[in-house]
Amino acid sequence: MVGIDQVLEKLSTVIDPDLKKDIVSMGMIKDLELNDGNLKFTLELTTPACPFNVEIEDDVRKVIGELSDLKSFDMNVTAKVMEGRSLDDDTGMATVKNIIGVASGKGGVGKSTVSLNLALALQQTGAKVGLLDADIYGPSIPLMLGMKDGYMEVEDNKLQPAESNGLKVVSFGFFAEQAHQAAIYRGPIISGILKQFLVDTNWSDLDYLIVDLPPGTGDIPLTLAQTIPITGILVVTTPQDVASNVAVKAIGMFEKLNVPIIGVVENMSHFVCPGANEKHYIFGKGGGKKISEQFNMPFLGEIPLNSGIMSGSDLGKPIMITNPDSPSAVAFKTAAKNIAAQCSILAAKLQQEMETEKSSEESTAEASTSN
Ligand code: ADP
Repeated sequence: MVGIDQVLEKLSTVIDPDLKKDIVSMGMIKDLELNDGNLKFTLELTTPACPFNVEIEDDVRKVIGELSDLKSFDMNVTAKVMEGRSLDDDTGMATVKNIIGVASGKGGVGKSTVSLNLALALQQTGAKVGLLDADIYGPSIPLMLGMKDGYMEVEDNKLQPAESNGLKVVSFGFFAEQAHQAAIYRGPIISGILKQFLVDTNWSDLDYLIVDLPPGTGDIPLTLAQTIPITGILVVTTPQDVASNVAVKAIGMFEKLNVPIIGVVENMSHFVCPGANEKHYIFGKGGGKKISEQFNMPFLGEIPLNSGIMSGSDLGKPIMITNPDSPSAVAFKTAAKNIAAQCSILAAKLQQEMETEKSSEESTAEASTSN
């Protein structure tokens, strides 16, 4: 009769294509029971948005199918998002597993549009997602979500995020009076506001917090990078943006601060005439890819130039909600899955680093007690 060792041996031949590790050593097999040839376990994937979820599940079924003497097989598939940042900081954000800053070199590249639709795409996979509109000088998320009159309550000295389409949303735009004056605020005030939005907000449990940063390399991106450990930065470019090299400056700043770059999403990448299939690269082709190669970072997706994306934002009805099966929404879903996969990769790296650190601390402690 088949034993647990044989089951684990078979399962350890299944490799997660992103993490390049087998699913047993990654701890993805839980609650394994084998009774009299009846096998049962849970496959716990690293994110509900993993682009390879179906492939991994199929591989598991295939290798289990190769075992003889099994009477029955029952697999429960779940996902638990990995912690892509160190959670033992004392900043009070320990319930947020991943923080993703969305940056761009200059304004108008569609950074807020991309932040919002990616947040919705992640949320639609079943992940718990928050969106922090940190573009203090031009907060556009409330308008894009149809929340012009939105506001946040304060309870027990903590801001309560507003809710929209399953997202937890915080924006400076909810403070209408102050938002008008934002242009006159200086560095320390601006940094203080961002810190409050991050730390003094009751985010509750979140898998991903998307932070829509102002363009460029000002106080807010700097404060985000220096205040709390974050998973990394997502760079939004357009083909023209790449040509003018402005994104390069922003990437350089985060690299200097040792903040991981998750990758690049190219917005307004091409245009498809209604009713046709051919892609027209109006602003040039391959710019986002070129920049990702130049900085050795993953290229995570191309979002088309589409009037539906624009009108959705203007009307407060994002395309991910109104037309989730459209090619534009599918492009956001693909990019969101690639981003989730990169977060899992960064989380696995972090886990490895923490384990190495812990074991070297333990061996130092052992050495000092034996001396
Ligand atoms: P940013 O945050 O970089 O300043 P926004 O997200 O506010 O840019 O977008 C600027 C304008 O471009 C908005 O009117 C928005 O609707 C439009 N826009 C953004 N992305 C697209 C796209 N892929 N297709 C069409 N219009 C877009």
